[in-house]
Amino acid sequence: MTLRFTNTMTGKKEEFRPLDPAGKTVTWYACGPTVYGPIHIGNARTFVVTDTIRRWIEYLGYDLRFVQNITDVDDKIIRRAAEEGISSEEVAEKYTEMFLEHVRLLGVRPADTHPRCTHVIPEMIAFIQKLIDKNHAYASEDGSVWFAVRSFNGYGKLSRRNLDDMRQGERVDPEQQKLKRDAMDFALWKAAKPGEPFWEAPWGRGRPGWHLECSCMSMQFLENETIDIHSGGVDLIFPHHENEIAQSEALSGKPFARYWLHQAMLNIRGDKMSKSLGNFLYIDKLLEQFDALTLRHFLISAHYRTELDFTDDNLALARKSSRRYVDTWREAVAVLGQKPDANAWKSSASCAELEKRFAEAMNDDFNTARALAVLFDVVTRLNTIRMDVERGEDKKSQLAALASLLDLFRNLLGVSRELEATASGGMEELSGQLLDLLIEVRNDARKLKQFALSDKIRDQLASVGIVLEDRPDGTRWKKAD
Ligand code: AMP
Ligand code: ZN
Repeated sequence: MTLRFTNTMTGKKEEFRPLDPAGKTVTWYACGPTVYGPIHIGNARTFVVTDTIRRWIEYLGYDLRFVQNITDVDDKIIRRAAEEGISSEEVAEKYTEMFLEHVRLLGVRPADTHPRCTHVIPEMIAFIQKLIDKNHAYASEDGSVWFAVRSFNGYGKLSRRNLDDMRQGERVDPEQQKLKRDAMDFALWKAAKPGEPFWEAPWGRGRPGWHLECSCMSMQFLENETIDIHSGGVDLIFPHHENEIAQSEALSGKPFARYWLHQAMLNIRGDKMSKSLGNFLYIDKLLEQFDALTLRHFLISAHYRTELDFTDDNLALARKSSRRYVDTWREAVAVLGQKPDANAWKSSASCAELEKRFAEAMNDDFNTARALAVLFDVVTRLNTIRMDVERGEDKKSQLAALASLLDLFRNLLGVSRELEATASGGMEELSGQLLDLLIEVRNDARKLKQFALSDKIRDQLASVGIVLEDRPDGTRWKKAD
């Protein structure tokens, strides 16, 4: 079974073949955040989907090297520093930590390396110098350096635009216009304005332009001028990725990335997130309202190439859906009397078939929506088999196999039990243990014919939304719908 996914460069679903002749190592560079504020749910979509795809590529057996940069010097950071009355470094440090913490809460694993722009300034200066030497870049009188877009033949190949179309839509900054040879040219090095952070360079004091860091870090940290995968949200295709390609390929003469992977945008109740609408939804606020499992489930519920809308209904649905596999697992384990062995599914032919269907979905352009449908097939079957076991049928090994498969799928999609535990700070498990204890006390009360007490336990639990079910094989609890 081969992995295929859409390469923005060709617009087609292509079979994935890594550069490594042994077909083992895969290199992936994902554009990370600009750390000037907390991340919002749109950023989170891109980071969560990226993490899910990463889990899948690793499951396929590839040895993945995954780098995601942190842009820690930028106009927006400088502006925020002025607003908060602290230095740009302090702003960057504060929001880098916040970024790492917020994605962790959503079950996103850190990259192998999170290089920061300010840590590779000498490398970027050397990069620019080589572009100047090759006549692809020039310094202007103020000490800025510009990439000469028309010196690079393939400009526009990723976003499929031609230069003349681009010129029409462009906003012209008259200050910059005086310095550039061509309106299309973009900054590799920005001369420092008073009060801004700066580094010394042969052309004068300044700081790198945004696009440059990704070209430089990709080559440096993945140790190759060509990598396998480069990714980000669709909003980065133009100009960011187009500019990355121009400066990288002008320098190396080789393709910069073999596969370009782009996530579609998340909208809020039908609107784009924007300053003018004031509809930014930040992760820390959302986590007060929804648990992390619900949020992550929602974020992977649509295919990554289709837009996703944040609505109350979609979130309610995600909550309900994620509860289904949480409850199904718990009930299965209660009947089994223990957690299943992680590999139990491997000895079952029907589970192997389900795993194949899941793999087909993920190998077909990382179709998480279809993969979730297979996961829910497992849920339905698990519940049926569990009821059979409760009726006394000898199907415990099948139940264990399916339960282990459910756990595998949850781990692959990152909606894992681990995330469930993080989401509740471990309280979910503790609540389960406390409920088991209350059930035991109630049973003792009933044995002692203290029915007032046993009824009180049942009624009071009902009043907080926990229903007790007395069955032939014991009492079970569940959350009321
Ligand atoms: P930024 O810090 O704005 O550069 O964004 C970090 C990542 O989030 C980039 O890969 C963006 O493409 C992505 N991103 C920004 N806004 C959205 C959105 N509304 N939906 C999905 N991804 C987004
Ligand atoms: Zn980038």
